[in-house]
Amino acid sequence: GSVKRISIFGATGSIGQSTLDLIGRAPEQYKVVVLTGGANIAQLADDAKRFRPDVVVTAYPDKLDDLKAALEGTGIECAAGQEALVEAASRPADWIMSAIVGVAGLAPGLKALEQGTTLALANKESLVTAGPLLLETARRYGATILPVDSEHSAIFQALVGEEMDAVERIVITASGGAFRDWPVDQLANATLAQASTHPNWDMGQRITIDSASMFNKALEVIETKEFFGAPPEMIEVLVHPESLIHALVGFNDGALMAHVGPPDMRHAIGYALNWPDRGHLPVDRLDLAKIRQLTFRAPEDARYPALQLAQDVMKTGGLSGAVFNGAKERALDHFIAERIRFTDMAALVAGALEELMRQNVINLEVTLDNVRQLDHLAREAADRIALDLVT
Ligand code: NDP
Ligand code: MG
Repeated sequence: GSVKRISIFGATGSIGQSTLDLIGRAPEQYKVVVLTGGANIAQLADDAKRFRPDVVVTAYPDKLDDLKAALEGTGIECAAGQEALVEAASRPADWIMSAIVGVAGLAPGLKALEQGTTLALANKESLVTAGPLLLETARRYGATILPVDSEHSAIFQALVGEEMDAVERIVITASGGAFRDWPVDQLANATLAQASTHPNWDMGQRITIDSASMFNKALEVIETKEFFGAPPEMIEVLVHPESLIHALVGFNDGALMAHVGPPDMRHAIGYALNWPDRGHLPVDRLDLAKIRQLTFRAPEDARYPALQLAQDVMKTGGLSGAVFNGAKERALDHFIAERIRFTDMAALVAGALEELMRQNVINLEVTLDNVRQLDHLAREAADRIALDLVT
């Protein structure tokens, strides 16, 4: 077939590196156009030398000199800063991976959609903070968004050939995180080190803590509502400690289609990369006879208050997702700095949501500027509440 032009935003991260791993297995099939990173210039430069993109961008202007020095004599264009990231997203490509972490991924993602291309979306914050804007931009420019978050890839795969009208429920699974078996009254004493170990997935510290608190699942519930247009009451969370079923879709006739797969993000990335065809995952196939059993339990409300907050956000709509995400990021910063307790994170987010709802700013139009503004206000509110807690 023809060579596929690929751009990767957030190439130096966990998702970005897994994407490059897949590309590197069949380099003749791809032409890399853009690679972007942040502070990890050594990784970015190594990948650039290997994959020979047209342009390499670091998010940080003060890293540009290092990047240029590392790529001297290669002829690869170097750039830096938020505007350069957005400009790079306008370079023609057939498939663009959105794997920057945080709300910083939104602007490049929107610009990529304006090409009318295919956006593989790992950056869940884009959908949580600006779902309607993202979908409307894709519609207007005839672009395709393919989900990369494993649960959403699973739902997407279960829905192939189906209509949403026939769907009765969407169930996303959660491992339950580090504290799924702890007594609930002990959670306030959970340490940073304890919250930073995940039973099944090998991920970064922030998303691992978000798994223990279920804030990650809360984001994913909102992501499900936004991406699939599912009403909140149709979306369920199921604790599944083995993390082998990633999601289930229930239909009106009683059928439940479960997506079962190894806990390896290269499956969901590869599905988006090869869509609508299927490629080959370079890992051992699951041996269900060896695994023998899959178990499930309902998430307890008292253990996982983040799930109730996600329901509140979905009912409120507007910019409440931007507030939820911004406040959650700051709550996590404070927990990682060991300024607040594990259980304070949910209180911080709830407090920020209440404060900004009182100020009547939640129902402003969902634009890039308003998302940024509300993200900022939510972080300030979370900081104030954190200060109240510790003093
Ligand atoms: P990482 O933290 O591993 O990587 C993030 C990437 O974004 C890196 O390339 C980083 O650069 C870059 N980056 C960091 N800050 C900025 C910024 N302000 N502006 C531009 N670029 C920046 O994250 P993950 O790969 O784990 O996750 C990426 C996205 O995918 C997130 O939205 C996450 O929620 C989602 N996701 C991740 C999963 C996983 O298994 N990891 C699963 C499902 C979804 P550098 O490192 O060079 O500083
Ligand atoms: Mg996920």
